Amino acid sequence: MTINLKGVVVSIDPKNLIEETPTQLFINGKWVNSSSSETFDVENPATGEVIATVASATGDDAIKALDAASDAQYEWSHTSSRERSSILKKAFDLVQENSEELATLMTLEMGKPLAESRGEVTYGGEFLRWFSEEANRIGGQYSTSPEGTLRFLVSRRPVGPCFLITPWNFPLAMGTRKIGPALAAGCTVVLKPARLTPLTSLYFIELLRQAGVPDGVVNVVPSKSASSVSEPIMDDSRLRKMSFTGSTGVGKHLLEAASKNVLRTSMELGGNAPFVVFDDADLDKAVEGAMAAKMRNMGEACTAANRFIVHESVAEEFSKKLAEAMGDLTCGNGLDEGTTCGPLIEKKALDNVAALVDDAKEKGAKVLCGGEPLEGKGYFYKPTVLYPVPTDARVFGEEIFGPVAPITTFSTESQALELANDTEYGLSSYLFTTNVQRALRFSEDLEAGMAGLNVGVLSNAAAPFGGVKQSGLGREGGNAGIEEYQEVRYIAMPTE
Ligand code: NAD
Repeated sequence: MTINLKGVVVSIDPKNLIEETPTQLFINGKWVNSSSSETFDVENPATGEVIATVASATGDDAIKALDAASDAQYEWSHTSSRERSSILKKAFDLVQENSEELATLMTLEMGKPLAESRGEVTYGGEFLRWFSEEANRIGGQYSTSPEGTLRFLVSRRPVGPCFLITPWNFPLAMGTRKIGPALAAGCTVVLKPARLTPLTSLYFIELLRQAGVPDGVVNVVPSKSASSVSEPIMDDSRLRKMSFTGSTGVGKHLLEAASKNVLRTSMELGGNAPFVVFDDADLDKAVEGAMAAKMRNMGEACTAANRFIVHESVAEEFSKKLAEAMGDLTCGNGLDEGTTCGPLIEKKALDNVAALVDDAKEKGAKVLCGGEPLEGKGYFYKPTVLYPVPTDARVFGEEIFGPVAPITTFSTESQALELANDTEYGLSSYLFTTNVQRALRFSEDLEAGMAGLNVGVLSNAAAPFGGVKQSGLGREGGNAGIEEYQEVRYIAMPTE
């Protein structure tokens, strides 16, 4: 395959790339086989073909990884921040140098168009650069007690060994968003990437090794059985923190498991984002924002616009324009030039999206475009716009995770707010209006960790990403990101 990148022609042969990608576990600085010799297959969702076979970690392997992380913790936490920062910066540079390899691997195992995979390499890499900078800004506080008898020295110490669990939808960025701050803070980690997309993580870990991460500081245990890895690790009192990105259902289960050893937790869970369009909005900009908020990752993003809530006076026009834009997308293999919409991750995901659309149709929704799977190889669903959709349809209550935009209407601002907040989730939200007063008033009342005001993309390494309600606990990125991996301690001493 030949890729034209900013005028430079780079040749990447997917077969060679996969051959040079590690497929073992990474424990204590070495690539090793699973203790059971078991493996699992990785599929290309655009073709259904098996592209690689990866070692599957067992509970014993997970404990070996935790042994390594635990043994390395003291020394790593006593390195200078400059040293940790330099390693993360070197990792950032290596990600840039290997960006085409990482992007191609991501498209092969996850399906998104190559242009989007390149975008994720840029986004994911930024967490390494941002936290390489944050490492040197770990501060403290000096104060005296109100009575004047004690001095307090408050510091932020690394929490200790962390267990990181990541989903398949952003195979690079979900890892760097956790590994970056953990390493910057001085924590060692055991990473369990998603079974469906381990290759990008494994390639990235090899880059971290080349960047000079000491043995034991980063360990990786892909597995076909998530719980056989997570249970023994989370049962072990040496583990101090668990950071999870994935569905709210699995997150709740892990929160219960974390209570046994009172683990610190960060939970980045599911979403059901409202996308609200007022009658004074610039409709072309709203459609552009809707395409970005809905179609990034084929709709398989926690930040994806899930419910379109549009003022009744502009709903017809907005729906028509959105259907035109969605209808212009080209579904196909993400490696093919011209593909703007890739496949869904697996058959189960395709069936789920189809069931949600069928339910909406049965309840009276009209299909403006799409509305069915694409015939042929791979797990493709046609980009779909449904308008109008009754609000009791399942598409409004559940995370769609596919290229489907259901639209309903409102007449008053308070009605729009009620509809927008009518969900147990609270991750992202979007709002299009040209009225500044309303924009701020409405954004402040939205029950969501993040609001995009006249913009369809929210994620940035320098911003505190995270949700409220059942969308999670904690923040990743921004100044808050590193605090998730630190605990506050103080030393008291007499002033005299
Ligand atoms: P998932 O919950 O099925 O899996 C996420 C990870 O958890 C995977 O690595 C999986 O192997 C692991 N896992 C599953 N069961 C487990 C168990 N019993 N013990 C330990 N680990 C277990 O989610 P998914 O399908 O991979 O990802 C999609 C979900 O992730 C969506 O709900 C999406 O909204 C959410 N997500 C959230 C964010 C965010 O930042 N809030 C970002 C991306 C994805």
